[in-house]
Amino acid sequence: MIPLSNPNISELEIQAVVDVLRSPSLSLGPKIPEFEAKISSYVGTKYAVAVANGTCALHLVLRALGIGKGDEVITTPYTFIASSNSILFVEAKPVFVDINPNDYNIDVNLIEKKITKKTKAILGVDVFGRMADWEKIQKIAKKHKLKVIEDSCEALGSAKAGTYGNAGVFGFYPNKQITCGEGGVIVTNDEKLARIARIERNQGRDYTTKSPHFQFVQHGYNYRLSDISSVILSKQMDRLNEMNRRRSEIAQMYFNLLANSGLKPSQNEPGVSWFVYTVELPKKIPANVKPKIIEDLKQEGVQAGNYFYPVHLQPFYKKKLGCKRGMYPVAEYVGDRTIALPFSSVMKDSEVKTVSEAFLKVVKKNGVQI
Ligand SMILES: *Cc1c(COP(=O)(O)O)cnc(C)c1O
Repeated sequence: MIPLSNPNISELEIQAVVDVLRSPSLSLGPKIPEFEAKISSYVGTKYAVAVANGTCALHLVLRALGIGKGDEVITTPYTFIASSNSILFVEAKPVFVDINPNDYNIDVNLIEKKITKKTKAILGVDVFGRMADWEKIQKIAKKHKLKVIEDSCEALGSAKAGTYGNAGVFGFYPNKQITCGEGGVIVTNDEKLARIARIERNQGRDYTTKSPHFQFVQHGYNYRLSDISSVILSKQMDRLNEMNRRRSEIAQMYFNLLANSGLKPSQNEPGVSWFVYTVELPKKIPANVKPKIIEDLKQEGVQAGNYFYPVHLQPFYKKKLGCKRGMYPVAEYVGDRTIALPFSSVMKDSEVKTVSEAFLKVVKKNGVQI
């Protein structure tokens, strides 16, 4: 089976982990600030705060920005569920805005209609690695005095990803551009936000005090990242550009193989660091064909992904927020028709070919005229 994603772990990471395991510091040691320094310098922000995963990074940012009960946060329904789950963590309400059909990111022309007195922030997402229209989002935020949170969990390495908001967030699950199994980071230029996040990731302990005993100055969590994970990320950062180059090559290869098929394969663009590679099925095909194609691909030895089934159609969100089909038609249209193909920096050229051929065969078999 050609897997949907596949981490790129080399002997460098393996040896580095062994070295940490032989050291006295498995957590709260030197590897955490080392990784933080690397990623903040790469992204171009003053501060980075490493945490246990991308979801808790979003949670800490929302808390540090003072967003809470009764507040509304504007976001997209076409994303991984963590984006809006984190808004619910702080008892705020996710207010969805539909996406644009070109890059699947939040449709900035629809944002202002959704702003109310309760709106406190816009939480945008760089879906699949393509950047949202952050300049427009910043403009709207400035006009309405809103905070901006950039969920860049899928876009490490894309042009300026992580730098547009009050804070940006990256995640390091194994399908992301770099991974340590589970991990996340907050990047920001806001000293106060970084300090609060640092305190809250470690149970509320104030690390700045000179007091001889631990000072827990506020409520906090255990959202720490270990030195074992941090050192993996540190080594992955050294290889990020090389891995992203390969990802981009593979995206281009897919595009070349699928461009004349009548389907809509994602077009490789400069400045995009791809998270997954998706193909959009044509408009005329019924929505129920996609699951069949994914199933048939499995028989061909290809693991394809259902990216993304919109958040507002998830059973919990229907119940919690009263969401229904029809509310965000573009997200639903795209959600019904996009299929993610196997994608990683360790894929071979021959595998890209095998997947493309299997995909075209299965698409045809399911009656899609191409
Ligand atoms: C991966 C991802 C996250 C964070 O996920 P974790 O599994 O908690 O690290 C958040 N938002 C988006 C859009 C993601 O793709």
